[in-house]
Amino acid sequence: MQKGAELYKGKAKTVFATADARYLVMHYRDDVSAFDGAKLAKLEGKGETNNRINAWVMEKLAAAGVPTHFVRLLNERESLVRAMKMVPVECVVRNVCAGSMAKRYGIAEGTRLSEPIFEFFYKSDALHDPLCNDDHIRVLGWASSEEIAAMKAITHSVNGILKPMFAAAGIDLVDYKLEFGHPVDDPHGALTLGDEFTPDGCRLWDAKTGEKLDKDRFRRDLGEVIQHYREVGRRIGAPGV
Ligand code: UDP
Repeated sequence: MQKGAELYKGKAKTVFATADARYLVMHYRDDVSAFDGAKLAKLEGKGETNNRINAWVMEKLAAAGVPTHFVRLLNERESLVRAMKMVPVECVVRNVCAGSMAKRYGIAEGTRLSEPIFEFFYKSDALHDPLCNDDHIRVLGWASSEEIAAMKAITHSVNGILKPMFAAAGIDLVDYKLEFGHPVDDPHGALTLGDEFTPDGCRLWDAKTGEKLDKDRFRRDLGEVIQHYREVGRRIGAPGV
C-alpha cells in the first residue's frame, strides 16, 4: 500500500493517507509525551518497538474475536489500519489501583481491586481528559447507549484476553486505555477498537518484583524506558522485538 499525504501528527504517531480512503498508514515515531504534552522527549527505538508490540497484541485480540482497525504490519515503524470515525472518549479498565484513580480517591497505588473497575474519560487535552459517565456521553451526544454498552463490553473482554497473556509472561496488567469508533466505510457496523495497545497506554508491572515496565518509567523519570518496553515485547513473544 503506497503511503500518501501526511494527514495528522499526534504526540507519538503520524497518520498518512493511502490511495484507498478506507485505509491509513500509522507511523510510530520515537517521540514520547506525558501530562497532556507538558513533558516531551525522544526515545530511540520506541517507534519500532511499539509498532511490533502493537501488531502482536492486535493479532491476539483479532484472533479472540475483538473487532480492531489493525490490518497488517507494513515495515519496522508502520502499520496499515482502517480509517475510523472515533468516539471522543477513553475507556479505562483497572485491575489494580494506580495513577489518577489512586490520586482521586486517596487509595494506595498497588491496591488490588476485587473486580475490574471501568472508567470513561472525555478526550480533551485542554480539559485534561476529565472523568465522565454514561449520561455525559449519551446526553452530550458523544455516543449512543448501544455504543456505550459496546465500549464497556469490549474493553472488559480485552482484559479477559490480555490479563492471562501478560500473566503467562510474568507481567501484571494493572490498567489500560482503549478508544473506539466505526470504520469510515462501515459507519453503522460493529463498534471497532481504533487504538494501539503498547506500554505507552497501559500499566505493566513485573509480577514478582513489581518493577514498572511501562510509560510510568518516563512519567516518573525511572530511566531505561525502551529497555523495559523491549523486555515486555520479548516476554510476550512479539516477533522482532
Ligand atoms: N492512559 C493513556 N492515555 C491517556 C490517559 C491514560 O494511555 O490520555 C492510560 C495510562 O497509561 C494508564 C491508564 O490509561 O495505563 C489509566 O491512566 P490514569 O487514569 O491512571 O491516568 P495517568 O495517571 O496515567 O495520567
